[in-house]
Amino acid sequence: MTKNTTTQLIQEVVDYLIETDTNELSNWGENRTEWLKQGGEQLKGIDKVIAGDLRIKKDDGSIGTYQAFRVQHNNACGYYKGGIRFSTGVNQDEVQTLAMLMTLKNSLHDLPYGGGKGGVHIDVRKHSKRELKEVSQAFVSMVKNDIGPYRDIPAPDVGSGPELMDWMTQAYKELHPNQPFINTFTGKSIKNGGTKGRGESTGIGTFLSYYYLVDAVLNGSLDVNDKHADKKDMIKAIGEKDDVKIAVQGFGNLSRAAAIAAQNAERKHTVIAVSDSRSTVYNENGVDAEKLAPFKEENDRLPNADELKEMGLEGDVLDPMDILTLDCDVLILGAIEDQITGENQADIKADILVEGANGPVTSEADQYLTEQGKVIIPDILANAGGVTVSYLEWIQGFTNEVKEKEVILEDMSKRMKKVSERVYGSYFSSEHDESLRFLCFKLAVVRVIDAMKRSGKII
Ligand code: GLU
Repeated sequence: MTKNTTTQLIQEVVDYLIETDTNELSNWGENRTEWLKQGGEQLKGIDKVIAGDLRIKKDDGSIGTYQAFRVQHNNACGYYKGGIRFSTGVNQDEVQTLAMLMTLKNSLHDLPYGGGKGGVHIDVRKHSKRELKEVSQAFVSMVKNDIGPYRDIPAPDVGSGPELMDWMTQAYKELHPNQPFINTFTGKSIKNGGTKGRGESTGIGTFLSYYYLVDAVLNGSLDVNDKHADKKDMIKAIGEKDDVKIAVQGFGNLSRAAAIAAQNAERKHTVIAVSDSRSTVYNENGVDAEKLAPFKEENDRLPNADELKEMGLEGDVLDPMDILTLDCDVLILGAIEDQITGENQADIKADILVEGANGPVTSEADQYLTEQGKVIIPDILANAGGVTVSYLEWIQGFTNEVKEKEVILEDMSKRMKKVSERVYGSYFSSEHDESLRFLCFKLAVVRVIDAMKRSGKII
């Protein structure tokens, strides 16, 4: 999703809330329209942006310059919270859009946070560890007075991980010797105050957001409006299959965990394909994500045909984008944004699409696929497992009580389930033919604008 489509959707939600008075805000009285308008304007803007060029001395003696941003979008519901992305796709618009999505994600999931996001324009593959460490330190120098456990709490995102969070924590510690540092970043390594399970949490949560949708339909407790009867039947048919075929785009941190969660799920799922930026590994009888994961970790790519054979695995090696159009029931989009577009939308065969990445379906494709009767589980619902465990890590930083991985993942799953059930219940019972994305935006926007009103941010 681009900044324009995100702000446009926020505007559509606000217009909808103004026109209908059957929502949580209906008791706001005569100022309702004015408050909603003001709240919508604040949500479409940003609170603060910190931007600059980071400069480091590279290993070859030359100077490397990298554009960097931290966008603090909105803190009506709590401290700014969101990851820092290291990628060549980074620009201010992208970081701002991602920060908006964080505000909405944290709101939808009832976390005590607002939204923020950071980004550094850099190709991580072309830099040594020492260089990345220096870039991380330079980033912290840039934002040092704007972050902190009670202000803005960054975390990993695309291209960053626990190692970077550890370096950043250390840099913050050195710059602010008398400030609390342990909770300034989440997603740290376990030895440095991180939480067990944080690494897998986004992927597992993404799979669960789909699994709970099917659960909600199968357990028969839903109140289904006629408008959604076809979708309910489609989901029920998938839930009743002996074996659900699932393709998982991406094989990074998120997608690996999502694919393994699918393989180990109680209802049988066969992962028919996984992919990365170079290839797709496909086998209609199943590719073993658990066996492929160590190869990917070691080589930073998936095996080629010969290597697959050597590993005792069967499968075809296809082009990376081929994964999107394979014949399957469920497609998890766990790579990057803008993967399903006007170009390939007509070739998508999966009935359920799950946005593990942020914004993998463009708004044009979203509309088209929804009209085709497909269900898209939006990013702000699906990929909140990571920030949910970040929240648990943040609590751990205050209590110093370290919990086991199973306990953490169980807690995250329960939270994902609660939010999913609320969203799916409201989706199926609605007399409006709105998409899941619209509904999630609506629930999220209502909570933020309500918080703004309570704190006097809108008057
Ligand atoms: N980058 C992740 C996200 O987009 C995690 C953010 C966090 O843990 O604060 O949700």
